[in-house]
Amino acid sequence: MSDLWYSGAATLEEKKSKSIIHPFTVKSYNGLAINPYQGCGHRCAYCYATYEWSPEFYDKIYAKSNASEVLDRQLAEWKSDTIEPVMVASATDAYQPAELRYGLTRRCVKVLQKYNVPYIVFTKSVIIERDLELHRQYRDNCFIIWSITTCNEKIRRVVEPGTPPASKMFQVMKKFTDAGVCCGVYVDPIIPLVTDSDEDLEAVVRSCKEAGLRYVFGALMRLRTDIWERMKLVLRLLEIPDGIEKYKQIYNFEEPLDANYVAANRRYAEKIIGSLEDRIKSYGMECGFPDYMGPRRIDRSHLGQTTLHSYLV
Ligand code: SF4
Repeated sequence: MSDLWYSGAATLEEKKSKSIIHPFTVKSYNGLAINPYQGCGHRCAYCYATYEWSPEFYDKIYAKSNASEVLDRQLAEWKSDTIEPVMVASATDAYQPAELRYGLTRRCVKVLQKYNVPYIVFTKSVIIERDLELHRQYRDNCFIIWSITTCNEKIRRVVEPGTPPASKMFQVMKKFTDAGVCCGVYVDPIIPLVTDSDEDLEAVVRSCKEAGLRYVFGALMRLRTDIWERMKLVLRLLEIPDGIEKYKQIYNFEEPLDANYVAANRRYAEKIIGSLEDRIKSYGMECGFPDYMGPRRIDRSHLGQTTLHSYLV
């Protein structure tokens, strides 16, 4: 079908950015995020960052080539002495394949560390293994979260064809937890009729335990007009019986879906999230974030040293 969101290979292009660190709000949470790339080669059908049906999001990846320099300048000029944890990244995967070519995320992480900025990496990648030592040396001030949807390879290839298999991600996680880096898994999104079975959830949670994780949490997929168009194709490709009709019941809508975000009905949501949380607890892990990720004082002491140094040379 021509409307497959994962047909063809992504092209890469460089662009300059004026600003790299941005505030964002999700429900009542106010945070900061950096996105060294625009677009994402992981090609997840459920991606919320596409904003609208936009094939270019998956097919054209922009590398913000001056990201680390702009970030450095913004932190040097930061108006407060403290800063909240920074999300790396919120609208792309900072460790998507383009990172192997450009290394922008690595450079930005070094800048965050230079200013003592706490950060939370969200990724579905194994490329982050390249930066294990970088994160390890900053392990009291960072949290790495892998977003995992399924351990079922047949489903993953359809739903998020640009990501590595979950088994590979769990291998990398184990190296991080062995190195003392605080890691978590966000089972996100849990996709009704696709990844919500007892077997699916059990496989993911058990793998988290085996990888040495302490923090696991999850969320159900929300539907939006463009996501629904892609999900209909997923349901057809996976041959889910009566999938479309069952989705209308779970999300309580009629075609055409013309909505910003629609949540699954409460009964279904409580059942699935309750099942996930029971499993997490039964393995002795915690549902949620670690407590220590709060604001930190920005370290700008090196700025004075740089100025002094520039006078001496
Ligand atoms: S990895 Fe994240 S940003 Fe990239 S396509 Fe998947 S959901 Fe979207």
